[in-house]
Amino acid sequence: MRDIRQMAWIAAAAAALFSAAPALAEDVPGAGFDVTRYTLALTPDMASAALSGRETIAFRVTEAGLDRLVFTGNALTIDSARLDGKALVPVQRGKALVFELGKPLPRGRRGKLELTYHGRPARGFARSAEALYTSYFACDWMVCAQDRFGDKAAFSLDLSVPKGMDTLSVGRRVAKRAGQDGREIHRWRAARLYPAYLYGFAVGRFAEVRSGKLAFLSDVADPAELQRRFAETGDMARFFAAKAGLPLPAGEYTQLLVRGDEAQEAATYAVLGLDAMPGEPGDPAEDWAIAHELAHQWWGNLVTCTALREFWLNEGVTTFMTAAWKEHRYGRAAYEAELGAARQRLQGAREQRFDKPLAWGGTYPSLGARRAVQYSKGALFMDRLRGELGEAAFWSGLRRYTRGHAGGTVTSLDLQQAMEAASGRDLRALFAEWVFGSDDGAEKG
Ligand SMILES: [Zn+2]
Repeated sequence: MRDIRQMAWIAAAAAALFSAAPALAEDVPGAGFDVTRYTLALTPDMASAALSGRETIAFRVTEAGLDRLVFTGNALTIDSARLDGKALVPVQRGKALVFELGKPLPRGRRGKLELTYHGRPARGFARSAEALYTSYFACDWMVCAQDRFGDKAAFSLDLSVPKGMDTLSVGRRVAKRAGQDGREIHRWRAARLYPAYLYGFAVGRFAEVRSGKLAFLSDVADPAELQRRFAETGDMARFFAAKAGLPLPAGEYTQLLVRGDEAQEAATYAVLGLDAMPGEPGDPAEDWAIAHELAHQWWGNLVTCTALREFWLNEGVTTFMTAAWKEHRYGRAAYEAELGAARQRLQGAREQRFDKPLAWGGTYPSLGARRAVQYSKGALFMDRLRGELGEAAFWSGLRRYTRGHAGGTVTSLDLQQAMEAASGRDLRALFAEWVFGSDDGAEKG
């Protein structure tokens, strides 16, 4: 029997299906083309948290007869849009931003969409003491396809900021020059390709500590506090590099310490809130945020799931690797405590009669339900694999998976194949039970 809560959810899902006009259902952001490069020039306004700017999206058509370019909708006002010089009219349709092309484009055709826009990002900006920083929702402050995880593209950003401001974005700052009205333009460029959800930037006046390949920035802490709070980041990076079989992927890594409880990875840095690590360094209860976001440098950012349904490969593996760091640093009890917390979260979802295979492709009823599966159950499955295969084969499988797909995108089958190759075992039944389930998305049990 389904309980009443599930009935209500199913009824709401069905209503949503029937009320959507057919044209809306086809507006899938990123469908039919791959973005090869985003080039942006943005001017954020520190007081109002609004911005204005230009963006060029270079893309290649992947489906014959592409008749529209669809991106994730946002609250920005598009002031102009031109495809290879020809004006287009933007339409916000449902949750999508759509550019109808008139004449369909053939597969393989390359194009450049040039945009100018302004506005106040809905969720894209957060404020620390004085600084502004973006968090996860890149498509709120730029035009992109937020959930197109498998589409990795080049990214460069010119940030126009008041003179004397510091900036942080993806990759490295490759140039700084004088702009208009006493402003400065900082050019950031990523050396690797990343999906859009990993793009971001921050603007403020930051205290800064550099330690080898690591940098620590903050507008709410002085260098001594940064040094103290991030004292173990170097050891963590060495631990993850050994487990991945690969050095720190971007070469350099920055942690931006802000006010609040933020814990969010971006392509080559992480934003960490003071409240996400309230205790002293060296306390096993308090360093999960530092470890989790750093682990994403390998699992999530370097090896990226192809789609939201495979998101557990980013988050479950990273949650597990956070527990593995704790085991390495503090001992077995800290590992068990981390997995115990994951078990409790999954149990909480099951008590709400919600449980899905890890690669379930349906719509989760809440963020909590999605996290219980993709983060918590994902971590528990990695622990299960470790127990099943033994130390040598499991870690060899993880290295094979990470190195074999470095810079690329993955599905659950890639992890299965790496673990099978490392162990010489047939893992179809175990992956069917935990990961794939039945492919129609039907309820289990
Ligand atoms: Zn994460």
